[in-house]
Amino acid sequence: MRLKFVAAVSAALFASQAPAQAPTSPKLLVVFSIDQFSADLFDEYRPRFTAGLARLASGTSFHNGYQAHALTETCPGHSTILTGDHPARTGIINNFWTDQSIARSDKSVYCAEDETQPGTSSTAYKVSPKHLLVPTLGELMKQRWPASRNVAVSGKDRGAVMMSGHVADQRWYWNGKTFVTDLAGAAVPQIVTRFDAALATALAQPRPALEPPAYCQGKARAVAIEGGGKPVGTGRFARDAGDLTAFRASPEFDGSTLALAAGLVDEMKLGRGAAPDLLSISLSATDYVGHTYGTEGEEMCLQLLELDREIGDFLNVLDSRGIDYAVALTADHGGKDVPERERLAGVTDAMRVDPALSPATMGKALVAQLGLRGPGLLGDSAFGDMYVDRSLRAADQKRLLAAAVAAYRANPQVEAVFTAAQLQATPVSSAPPETWSLIQRSRASYLPGRSGDFLVVLKKDVTPISNTSRSVATHGSLWDYDRRVPILFWRKGVATAAIEHSVDTVDIMPTLASQIGLPVQPGSIDGHCLSDVPGTQCPTR
Ligand SMILES: [Zn+2]
Repeated sequence: MRLKFVAAVSAALFASQAPAQAPTSPKLLVVFSIDQFSADLFDEYRPRFTAGLARLASGTSFHNGYQAHALTETCPGHSTILTGDHPARTGIINNFWTDQSIARSDKSVYCAEDETQPGTSSTAYKVSPKHLLVPTLGELMKQRWPASRNVAVSGKDRGAVMMSGHVADQRWYWNGKTFVTDLAGAAVPQIVTRFDAALATALAQPRPALEPPAYCQGKARAVAIEGGGKPVGTGRFARDAGDLTAFRASPEFDGSTLALAAGLVDEMKLGRGAAPDLLSISLSATDYVGHTYGTEGEEMCLQLLELDREIGDFLNVLDSRGIDYAVALTADHGGKDVPERERLAGVTDAMRVDPALSPATMGKALVAQLGLRGPGLLGDSAFGDMYVDRSLRAADQKRLLAAAVAAYRANPQVEAVFTAAQLQATPVSSAPPETWSLIQRSRASYLPGRSGDFLVVLKKDVTPISNTSRSVATHGSLWDYDRRVPILFWRKGVATAAIEHSVDTVDIMPTLASQIGLPVQPGSIDGHCLSDVPGTQCPTR
């Protein structure tokens, strides 16, 4: 009796004191994905942020967010954020996979392409959302409110495609030279033409080096890189006129993406229509900076502090237009530093991958050993999905599979190998993501018919790059430095909460849906509405 009374009084008190619960649904949802923004980086830089990222971190902040699956690449990561599903359900198991049944000679398939288009390849492709097997939040909003707009802007086509999905109003991304769209039917907004011209003018000029604040200068230390790459650690983003590669791996790139997004907000009057709109913004520069320079030098420091400022400027534009908006921010995956600097920091077993683990090298060795012909194995990388050559006789495929699994397991850099049969027999976990076993993480990246015959997991702290001439650091593993990402929710006037317990990027979609009153049947997706976020009205399970 007594307990019930206390509970009733507490409930009444809580209800009357509930701070600043937003009275109405937001008119615009803004969803940021910061490419390769690990929770480790967020935790390190959080005290340094003073602008946009500080504002968003002052909302509801989950610093133990997870991209729970194993193959932590850009395409699968983006596919989880606004579908509410793990890659096993979105179908976006990786950036590239192998499909030996397709007609063209290139059997590699890019996640955001239509490989049936004549004359295409996995690197010269026609952009398409066809491989995404589930709807996005923006598509569901348009079904419920036909006036709702679904808009995406990104540094990468796959970021924009996977966040907006099959039915979008505008979708713009950088193609290496300019911002383009794959939406043939949508009229090109005037701002895009003006923006393109302004950007081309800016890129034709050289850019001086940035002047780093003292904190970043403290990180400046040249580190030699194995495998042919240039030393890293002391870059300040000076750019020659017209150097588009340098542009892409610099804070300028995110600044441009955000400027285009702000232009679309104005021209399309997003957040000022009859129905709620969705604007997805995938900011790619952090990823290019991480791949080019690693994550613990002066370069990443400058990138993140500039990103903080640029996001702040963008939010100030929304404020100045009087738009009632709500924000979610996360990352498509985490990342880790170059092994050479990690070793200096005491991670003694940080190392680069053994080139013998590439499927081409391993396949060639196994084919010779078994007296077979052809490549033997197909695959995109020294880890992840591996495919046995289907042109071999069935009995030889079986022999080769057994020999390949044994050979990978015998390599000292390999943590585990899971066969398709093992993965298929494993249910997708709904437990907290930090408790998932390695096979459970791998299962969330597995789709029968698209995934490989077996999946290779490298040991922790093995960087799967041996030739460092183009890229020195990366992500993609099932270890927490690649899986753990921040998940932030912010809305003006809504209470602050810093939350320790783990959540999953698949929880973002149902949480945002509840904020705008869009029904999502519990159990229809992998994610769960997060009732810790003020302003959400989660459906009862
Ligand atoms: Zn990425």
